[in-house]
Amino acid sequence: MQLYIKILKENAGNVIENLMRKTKVVAHVLVKVLIYRILFIINAIVGVGKNMFKNNYIHELELNFSNICGANCIMCSRPHGCDNEDIMQPKIFNILVDQLKDVKFDIIQTSGDGETFMNLHYINYIRTLKREFPNTPRWIYNNFSMLNNNIANIIVTEDLFNRVHTRVDSLHEWIFTKSSMLNMEIVLKNIKYFLSINHKIPFTILYNNIVDYYNRCKAVFGDRPIRDRFNDIELSQIKNEQNEIREYFINDMHNPELLSMARINHGLWGERYRDDIEHNPFYPCPKIKVIEQVCWIYPNGNIGMCCYEDRQTEGFSLGNIQNEHILDIFYGEKRRQAIENIKNNVYKDYPCNDPRLCGFGDGVENKKGV
Ligand code: SF4
Ligand code: SF4
Repeated sequence: MQLYIKILKENAGNVIENLMRKTKVVAHVLVKVLIYRILFIINAIVGVGKNMFKNNYIHELELNFSNICGANCIMCSRPHGCDNEDIMQPKIFNILVDQLKDVKFDIIQTSGDGETFMNLHYINYIRTLKREFPNTPRWIYNNFSMLNNNIANIIVTEDLFNRVHTRVDSLHEWIFTKSSMLNMEIVLKNIKYFLSINHKIPFTILYNNIVDYYNRCKAVFGDRPIRDRFNDIELSQIKNEQNEIREYFINDMHNPELLSMARINHGLWGERYRDDIEHNPFYPCPKIKVIEQVCWIYPNGNIGMCCYEDRQTEGFSLGNIQNEHILDIFYGEKRRQAIENIKNNVYKDYPCNDPRLCGFGDGVENKKGV
C-alpha cells in the first residue's frame, strides 16, 4: 500500500499535468465546437435573412408572345414590336418558366403588341403556365378573329384562363371593319360560341366608341387620328352602342353574371408615331405606377421598360433573361435608373415624346384640362 502511495506521490505531478493537459484539450475542443456552433447559427440567420429580405415579388407579368396581328385597329400601336422578334419561341419560354419558379407574382397577362394566337405555341404555353403556377390568375386580351370553336373548346374544357377580355367597337359592320379591319361576322360568331359554352370564366367586353377617340385626338393635339378612316358625316352617325352590345351577347350566356362591360377611355399611343408630335415637357408620365409594378417580357427575352415602348428596341431594354435572372433585372440598377429618368421627364424622344398620349382611363388628361 505504501508502495502505491509512494508511486502516487512520485507521479502526482505527472497525473495533474496530464489531467490539466486533457482538460485543456477538452476545453479547447469545446471552445472550438462553440465557435463553430455560433458561426453556424450566424450563417443560418444571415442565410434566412438574405432570403427573407431578398425581393422576389413582381405584381404582374405581361408576357408578349406575339408582335404580329391580323387586325389594324385605329387606336393600336403601329410599330408592333418591330425591333424585336415576331413571336416568343419555346427556348425563351422555357428559360422564363424556369426563372419564374423563383418569383412571387399575382397575375400573368398573356397579351402584348400583337395577336397571341399567331404564336402556334400559345395554347401549350398557357397549359404549362397553368401546370407550373396553378394558383396565379392567367388573363388574355384577344380580338377573337382566330379564337375559333376548336380553340374555345380547349380553353373552356381545360379551364386555361381566369379572365378573358375582348374589344367590340360596334355591331355595325361598316364601323367595325373600318375601326379594326377585321371580319365582323367571324369575330362575333367566335365570341358568341365562346360565351355559349363558357360556364365559369369571367368575360369582359371593352367598348371603344370611335367618336370618343376622334374627340380625344382633337382635344390633345388638335388633329384627326393618323389612321383617319371616318369622315365627319360617318362620325355623326356613330352612336353609343354599349347597351346594345351587352344585350346582343348576354342572351347566349349560361351565366350572365360572367359578363362585364366597360366603355374604355382609350389612350393615344397609336398617334405618337407621327412627325408632328413633339416633346411635351409639361406632362408627367401617366403610367409610372403601372411601370413600377409590371414586368414586360418580350419575345426575344428582353425585359421592357414600359409597354408603350412598342418598338421594343434594345435601347430601352433593361436586360435579357437569357443572360440574367428576371429578378436581377427587375430589381437591378438599370431599371431603377430608368424609372428615375421617367419620373424626371428625361426621355424626350419616342416613346415618351408626349406623355399625354399614353394616358388611358386614368384621368390624367382631364386633370390637366385637356
Ligand atoms: S388592338 Fe389588338 S387586335 Fe387591334 S391591331 Fe392592336 S393588337 Fe391587333
Ligand atoms: S411617357 Fe414614356 S414611360 Fe411613360 S407611359 Fe409613355 S412611353 Fe411609357
